[in-house]
Amino acid sequence: MPERFSAALQDKLSKRLSYYQDIGIRLFYRDRLVVRAPAELAPTPMPIPIVREEPLPKPSPKPVPPLAPSVLASAAQKSSVLPLAPKVSLFDAVNKITDDSLLKIRTDLGECTRCKLHTTRNKIVFGDGNPKAQLVFVGEGPGRDEDAQGLPFVGRAGKLLTQMIEAMGLQRKDTYICNVVKCRPPENRLPEPDEIKTCSPFLLRQLDAIAPKVIVCLGACAAQTLLETNRGISHFRGEWLEFRGTRLLATYHPAYLLRNPAAKADVWKDLQKVMAVLGLEVKKGKPS
Ligand code: URA
Repeated sequence: MPERFSAALQDKLSKRLSYYQDIGIRLFYRDRLVVRAPAELAPTPMPIPIVREEPLPKPSPKPVPPLAPSVLASAAQKSSVLPLAPKVSLFDAVNKITDDSLLKIRTDLGECTRCKLHTTRNKIVFGDGNPKAQLVFVGEGPGRDEDAQGLPFVGRAGKLLTQMIEAMGLQRKDTYICNVVKCRPPENRLPEPDEIKTCSPFLLRQLDAIAPKVIVCLGACAAQTLLETNRGISHFRGEWLEFRGTRLLATYHPAYLLRNPAAKADVWKDLQKVMAVLGLEVKKGKPS
């Protein structure tokens, strides 16, 4: 019998099947519909605007949009824990830059030396994907593979993220993927507060420029940074929250899933919520 798939495709299919199995999907239908992303999720060419150096905006007072009441109530419990909805959010206080673009932001970032991470990095990992994506994933910071290639989520955790995106019926290039810090913390340590503070204005501008429908924070660092909280991610994982008027959902980091495969089912539930908001088909037979 002639071979139907190449070895590479067989390997990809086998990894995909074991990912489905890990997250509890065991039933497959031969005639199931091909999942298509809505037309607006299709990649659009990135415009080449005139690049002008612009200073980062200064904070100015602005009303803060309210977050989900259930979250507010639980966030207020411990005074040593920062609430999820601070009275004045530093991010909300920053005005959007008119006509900002990823290209301008990348140009402004330049060969950055603003924090100590520049001394040990190889490549800046700015972000990758569709500049008009409806879905943005925000991770923590580049690891070894990302630092070598200058691209986010290309190592083991990145391969799992790609599988998760494909399980949603999307392709990586339909989404935009970036990190809180753009340079690798040495030995993959957590980014430090001063590094996050220095780098996050660029993340903020990326999110404003893309203006996605949904932001998914991968892991505690991204979630705590954007939500300006020090509460553990398990307190708000899978809940719809808000970042500067955009829906935000925090879920576990793919690197955590590599260590704790049982948590994949929770992440799949979270991603199904995202799929519903994006109008992607949530198929029968998957965990609810
Ligand atoms: N982990 C992250 O948080 N980001 C990457 O880009 C890679 C691994």
